[in-house]
Amino acid sequence: MSTARLTVDLDALVSNWRALDSMTPATTETAAVVKANSYGLGVQPVGRALAKAGVRRFFVAVAEEGAALRDALGPNVEISVFSGHMRGDTDMIGDLNLVPMINSIDQMVRHVEALPGHPFGIQLDTGMNRLGMEAEEWLALRDTALELDPTLIMSHLACADEPDHPMNRQQLETFLALTDGTGVPRSLSATGGILLGPEYHFDVTRPGIGLYGGLPFTEAMPVARLDLPVIQVRTVQAGETVGYGNTWVADRPSKIATVAAGYADGIHRIMGPKTSLFAGDDPCPIRGRISMDLIGVDITHLDEEPQGLTLLGPQQTVDMIADNAGTIGYEVLTSLGRRMSRRYKGG
Ligand SMILES: *Cc1c(COP(=O)(O)O)cnc(C)c1O
Repeated sequence: MSTARLTVDLDALVSNWRALDSMTPATTETAAVVKANSYGLGVQPVGRALAKAGVRRFFVAVAEEGAALRDALGPNVEISVFSGHMRGDTDMIGDLNLVPMINSIDQMVRHVEALPGHPFGIQLDTGMNRLGMEAEEWLALRDTALELDPTLIMSHLACADEPDHPMNRQQLETFLALTDGTGVPRSLSATGGILLGPEYHFDVTRPGIGLYGGLPFTEAMPVARLDLPVIQVRTVQAGETVGYGNTWVADRPSKIATVAAGYADGIHRIMGPKTSLFAGDDPCPIRGRISMDLIGVDITHLDEEPQGLTLLGPQQTVDMIADNAGTIGYEVLTSLGRRMSRRYKGG
């Protein structure tokens, strides 16, 4: 084994989906967000495991991602596309039966002209100012759109990972004002919104990160494990250095393991100074700069030379590493590179 190995625990993934599903009443459908190749973990195996567990509705960012998912899951699940109906998407949306979340009057016109009678949803902007129709646009379109029977009306919360943020209630009230009385199924919450409580649940929830073991779902089971093979072990004397730029100098004779992974695999240089790899429960600090393909790790204190060291696992979550890099678990997961081998467990 000479490349890093990412192990995706599909049983943990399914149990995270079940846990999020159990936080809402049976009348609320828990969908799954599998955009960006299922947050880097592999849209096809992840999609299959979730469909087998009972997920009937999936969300992707763009139509191309919907095509990969349709390929894996066949015709019996609903696949919705957040970016809506873009120019050039018509064939894919039509042939693969994708459901665009319409974001503007322009998209609405394109959709009904190109694919009359084809299902669609509506995405409203309730304050995030990212995707979706503005209130005035929606009010102008509303009666016409409702006659065409949208499958869903959705919006997205900007601050749901901060339960006390006043933006949550403000967006909830805007969403209610824009959608009350429409009779169309509604969806407001991703992972963070599910945790905000029943007012935010509506008819469909759209968890992403919580399925993959990330915050703000603190009870999530870890889904991704990352083991890095040790290529070489050497002893360095006090005063010797490790890696580019001589940033680390040994202050005692030390044993340094060189592992096969680096920033090209999404292990960002910036996380180096605060991050350890693990030999079982023993933390082994990174020494020197993270290179493109290699990382130096201090194993002086270990009794035996390990064959591999663990970067992500029960000892260290994606959010802990993200913190070391000044970022969020989402970015760590979606950065994990294509070079590493992927293995799927359970499902
Ligand atoms: C990414 C995304 C989600 C999922 O969000 P998580 O925080 O990962 O649960 C849901 N809805 C929309 C519109 C999104 O862009």
